[in-house]
Amino acid sequence: MKTIGLIGGMSWESTLTYYKIINETISEKLGGLHSAKILLYSVDFDEIERCQSSGDWAKSAEILGDAAKRLEGAGADFIVICTNTMHKIAPEVRDHISVPLLHIAEVTAQVLRDHGIRTAGLLGTSYTMTEPFYVDVLKGEGLTVLVPDHDDIRLVNDIIFNELCVGIIRESSKETLLRVINDLRSRGAEGVILGCTELGMLASDGDTEILLFDTALLHAREAALLSLR
Ligand code: GLU
Repeated sequence: MKTIGLIGGMSWESTLTYYKIINETISEKLGGLHSAKILLYSVDFDEIERCQSSGDWAKSAEILGDAAKRLEGAGADFIVICTNTMHKIAPEVRDHISVPLLHIAEVTAQVLRDHGIRTAGLLGTSYTMTEPFYVDVLKGEGLTVLVPDHDDIRLVNDIIFNELCVGIIRESSKETLLRVINDLRSRGAEGVILGCTELGMLASDGDTEILLFDTALLHAREAALLSLR
């Protein structure tokens, strides 16, 4: 079994999901007392968020690149960044290491393709929804990507940072999220990507008529499967 190097803490709420799903997948595949070999470097999210909001992506690339290098030095066979947004600096993190980085958007695009989805709605932070670093990976895999309008981008972004990342779950925010998902569906989305690793705290399959693709679940499961290959 390979050792998985997780860069977590962005936020720690969703890192819990990664730890749980990776171990559940290993247990499903190997049974008995088997569990995953994991190294976790959990950052101080306040420091990372300050880099995001001030536009100092170079500093955040140094922090995550250093974390990745330490994980590799400690024996990680591959690296997983447990957030969509910070894949903005995935190329810089890759430059710090010689082991592979399992890219969350590449994993997600593959699953959408397996489901025969061609047009997907994308929800996440405003960085993820409006900047090319994430959408371009999906487009490169042949997907058409729909994002909410300006006001809804702000609403979803605020729910993520002001509530979910600090563990607050509000029924009113769930209703907002489901309304935004439904709008994407009316505009032609065949599935909606929960492209923020905390969004699964608010909505999951069964809440909507449209298929939801929770990137935290997909990324964590693929990490577990990769550790067994
Ligand atoms: N975990 C979130 C994501 O998947 C947002 C936190 C962050 O900005 O990294 O994008």
